[in-house]
Amino acid sequence: MKKKTPLEPVIVHRCFVCGMKEKDVVPCNNKICNKAYHLKCLQMSEWPEGNKFICPWHNCNICSKLTIRCCVKCVSSFCPSHSEGNIRYDNILGFVCSIHDPTKISNEEPIKLRKKKIQKQ
Ligand SMILES: [Zn+2]
Ligand SMILES: [Zn+2]
Ligand SMILES: [Zn+2]
Ligand SMILES: [Zn+2]
Repeated sequence: MKKKTPLEPVIVHRCFVCGMKEKDVVPCNNKICNKAYHLKCLQMSEWPEGNKFICPWHNCNICSKLTIRCCVKCVSSFCPSHSEGNIRYDNILGFVCSIHDPTKISNEEPIKLRKKKIQKQ
């Protein structure tokens, strides 16, 4: 079966780190990944050649090994040997790193980067 690709509309991705929707936000090339990023948000100076950008979400923070234990809230991820104390599986959310673990965030509000609270009342 041939799959016809019609003229692709310009897809504007939302950066997973800062949440901005801009044209220079580049999606990760990993098939299971739906994340996209600004170059500057990954603290990178340029995209890898050949347009094969794979985001840091898939690699262990400590040893860079490929892993699927990736925090749903940030780009932190840990391989099985480094997951203890760093990441765990939450039944509702999925994998969460120690920063985003809801059982560890007690009364504190979740950290929101660069976003001020707008009071609407
Ligand atoms: Zn960004
Ligand atoms: Zn990715
Ligand atoms: Zn590791
Ligand atoms: Zn996290």
